[in-house]
Amino acid sequence: MEKAKVVIIGSGPAGYTAAIYAARANLQPIVFEGFFSGPAGGQLMTTTDVENYPGFPEGITGPDMMEAFCKQAARFGAIMLREDVESVDFSKRPFTVKGKNHSYEADAVIIATGATAKRLDIPGTREGEFWQKGVTACAVCDGAMPIFRNKPLFVIGGGDSACEESLFLTKYGSHVYVVHRRDELRASKIMGQRLINHPATTVIWDHVITKVEGDQVVEKVTLKNVKTGEETVHEAGGVFFAIGHTPNTAFLDSQIELHDNGYIKVEPGTARTNVEGVFAAGDCHDHVYRQAVTAAGSGCMAALEAERWLSAQESFHEPESVHN
Ligand code: NAP
Repeated sequence: MEKAKVVIIGSGPAGYTAAIYAARANLQPIVFEGFFSGPAGGQLMTTTDVENYPGFPEGITGPDMMEAFCKQAARFGAIMLREDVESVDFSKRPFTVKGKNHSYEADAVIIATGATAKRLDIPGTREGEFWQKGVTACAVCDGAMPIFRNKPLFVIGGGDSACEESLFLTKYGSHVYVVHRRDELRASKIMGQRLINHPATTVIWDHVITKVEGDQVVEKVTLKNVKTGEETVHEAGGVFFAIGHTPNTAFLDSQIELHDNGYIKVEPGTARTNVEGVFAAGDCHDHVYRQAVTAAGSGCMAALEAERWLSAQESFHEPESVHN
């Protein structure tokens, strides 16, 4: 098995920033960027313009930003592996991190595996039904597909993602309907206003989708008013889930402490998990801010803490100096 001082699990702003700092500290980090679990670069690979990351007054696309992060880490010697981690063993040091093709013994580990878009179990949306045949959880990845062109599209959710994805979909659909279970958006005011003011979007308040039907692809949806129970059927070319995310922490197999919602617990104000030498950064532990800039900041924290922890371990194991 190969050896590493630091293994970083996950890419995205947290993983790549941890890699930049660890590489600049001469720790030669190994970065498991992910593969089947999601694109290298994480959720920003499926977003359009990032307008709120400081330093980019004109904005930058998510993929361009992640490519730059990755290049910066590689420039200082981080080694990227396009593969998923399948299991870890944190019960003894050095820790073991097993990927599909590579396995490492690591002195320290930084977990930066992010989170994945949630789906609802609505009849018609499952695998083998219309999942990926008009039903998706990523408007930005799939919205440009021909099946969505000039069709009425339905987005489920009331947060910033629902707003952002609906606005994006106005480029393709004939009209975008945002189906929200309440009568108030959770989204930030600015995003909510953009959505409400856009002529090609309509928010359908107090409704849920109860059924998705079609022949080869999605053709209609059934909406239910949650206040009256009334159901109506509408022509539809696509259904997009935009209802939040689940942290990618299942592979940890309960070896570190998690919150009830699956996010990794860290000591407040630090990147330290309950296992000494294992650190967490980004959306896998942050269920509050979930921004690229906070993820990058916590990646920096995790790498600095890993570096300090490794130095402390080394000085602890050095032979005592001889005093005359
Ligand atoms: P979110 O803020 O958690 O919103 C999820 C939405 O989905 C809520 O409106 C929620 O309804 C709805 N929902 C959840 N479960 C549902 C269910 N079972 N059935 C129907 N509706 C359901 O998630 P998000 O929009 O993905 O945003 C996550 C974070 O990323 C936020 O901090 C957000 O600010 C940030 N973000 C920022 C940007 C940006 O600034 N450009 C873009 C995207 C995301 P309720 O409101 O009723 O709970």
